[in-house]
Order: sequence, then structure tokens, then C-alpha cells
Amino acid sequence: MIRPEFSNCLSRVIENPKATETDLIFLLDTINQKEQDLLFTEAARIRNQYCGARMILRGLVEFSSYCGNSCFYCGLNRTNSRAERYRLSPDQIVESARLVWNAGIKTIVLQSGEDGMEAQVIADVVYRIKAEHDMAITLSVGERPRKDYALWKDAGADRYLLRFESTNPELYASLHNGRTLETRLQCLDTLQELGYQTGSGFMVGTPGQTLEIIAQDIRFLAQKNYDMIGIGPFIPHPDTPLRNAPAGDIHLTLRAVALIRLTSRNAWLPATTAVGSLDRDYRVDALQAGANVLMPNFSPLDVKRKYGIYPGKRCVTETTADTDSMEDLARAAGLTLDYSRADTLK
Ligand code: SAH
Repeated sequence: MIRPEFSNCLSRVIENPKATETDLIFLLDTINQKEQDLLFTEAARIRNQYCGARMILRGLVEFSSYCGNSCFYCGLNRTNSRAERYRLSPDQIVESARLVWNAGIKTIVLQSGEDGMEAQVIADVVYRIKAEHDMAITLSVGERPRKDYALWKDAGADRYLLRFESTNPELYASLHNGRTLETRLQCLDTLQELGYQTGSGFMVGTPGQTLEIIAQDIRFLAQKNYDMIGIGPFIPHPDTPLRNAPAGDIHLTLRAVALIRLTSRNAWLPATTAVGSLDRDYRVDALQAGANVLMPNFSPLDVKRKYGIYPGKRCVTETTADTDSMEDLARAAGLTLDYSRADTLK
């Protein structure tokens, strides 16, 4: 049964994307199956209206598992002596970009731990890839000084992904050893100022997170007008301090995806690898709840497993960017597969 208070609440958020915290909490929480279905249907409708009924592709290359940070949730944290560390050479990264390009995909996402790699090395890789292919380059290598972000932008980088993880300063501090929310948000502002298409987001279900905090995160995302927004469930890693914490709730995650779609409308929203790495693959569900990006993994086979931010990563068992399976995912969600660069819609 769809309750009138639910319909009214949903209509308010659809009419005015500057939704109130109270309305967002209501929609994250107290809704039944029929209401949740309607929330997802409306999010998919808004997605189709603002972005087109398509699923776009970004090729992901995880180029280093070295990390100088010790985020309590992440398997790559520097105190995890069981983590296998690797670093791809510039030639290997450029070769991975060729694979992405040859698959017809026109964006590459280069991600790593906070490796501390010399900025010029990354700039050279960006420059080499740009010289070879007319493809968009997204970097996701964590917090760096403004001069590094500027150097990479000058070398040709187009986009940057940096999740804020939580806009609540206390929760942020409890998840990150010796780091502050302030510096993370400062990095995001710098990236936007430098003209990067900027992506952010958070994990759902980190210990201590409340619905209020999720609602605040969703409002913050809309206010910052990010070009891309990635969220996924927290998945406990056995070799981290949070090993015994429960995983994030997938249904809450999907409702958050839908609400981000309603409030941030024309942002690109991936059906993330974490969403695909639970008891079953929920990526189609995420696409049906308003997501519209898939990030097939192009890291060399032996390193996919070593980039162990959480256990059970879907891509470890998957063949790289199997075109049929990407087509299947899109079709199952009623979307067409789109190979364009998909620059910002903002
Ligand atoms: N070093 C880069 C990339 C981090 S990995 C950076 O700092 O931005 C990319 C994302 O994976 C993180 O932002 C985090 O949101 C997510 N992540 C890390 N550990 C996770 C876990 N245990 N469960 C779910 N998501 C996780």
C-alpha cells in the first residue's frame, strides 16, 4: 500500500530537489516494498529525463596498491602487512589505456592508493595517453597539494574522483586515522576551482553512520553540484580494524542512490563495484534505482585481486569488460549501452 504521507513526501522531493533533511530521512527509512518500488521508478524516470535512458562506460585501471594512509575500513591501509603491494609501470598504464580504447570506451579512470608517486610521473602518463587517444582521463589518487592537481590538469586530465566518505566531521575522524574532513573538502573545492569535472560520494553503512548523516551527505552532494557521484555499501575487510563491523545494507544503499538521483538530477552515477560484490550482484538494481554508469575493470588480471580495498570484489572473477555482459546489464535495466565520452551534463 502506498501511504498518502509517502506520496506527498516523494512529490515534494521531486518538485524541489533542495529536499529537506526530514523528507530525505523519511524516504531512506520508513517505506514499504511498494513505496520503495515507486521511489526507484521515479528516480529512473528523472534519470531518463535529465541524462537519457543510457548506461555509459568508464574503463577502470587500478595502478597502485601502495598507500601512505591508514583508513580504518580499507584493506590497502598502510598498517595492513597482509596486503599485496604492486605498482604498474608507466608503460603498463599506457598499455591498459590502449585496451580501454580498443574496447571502444572513451574514458579511463586511473585509481590508486595514496601511493605518494611523484606528480610528474603521473603527469607524463596522462600526457602520453592523451597524445595517443582522444579519450577523457579521470584521476582518483587521493589528497594531493594544489600544485599537483594543477600539473595534472595542465597535462590533460579532465576529471577527478575523491569521495568525501562522510560530511560529518566526527564520523569522518572516526574512520580516518589522523586525517580531517576539512582537508578532504578543501581538496574537492580546489579540484572544482581548477576546472576538473569532479566526482565525490560516500560509503553507506560505515559504523556510527546514521540516517541523519546520510541525509546530510545527500544534501551536500546536491549543493556542491558534483558532476559524478559514487556511493556503495561499506564491506568489512578481515585485515582492518573494522573487520567485525556489519556490511552496509544494500537496500538502504539503493534508496540512497535513488534519492541522489532525485536531488542531484543530471550527475553521472555509477552502479559501483561494491554494489556488485555482496551476496549477489545488485548492479542492475542500482541502475533501476537511477544509476547510469558502469566501470568495467581493465586492471591486469593478477593485480585486480591485489587491489584489495574490500573482499569479494566482483571484477576479480569477471572477464575484463565482456561486451555481452555489459549489454545484458544495460538491457536488464531498460537502458542502451553508450560508448561516448559522456562529459559533464552540468
Ligand atoms: N586513494 C583513493 C582511492 C580510494 S579507493 C582516494 O583516497 O580517493 C576508492 C573508494 O573505495 C574509497 O573512496 C572508499 O569510499 C571505497 N572503499 C574503501 N574501502 C572500502 C570498504 N571496505 N568497503 C566499501 N568501500 C570501500
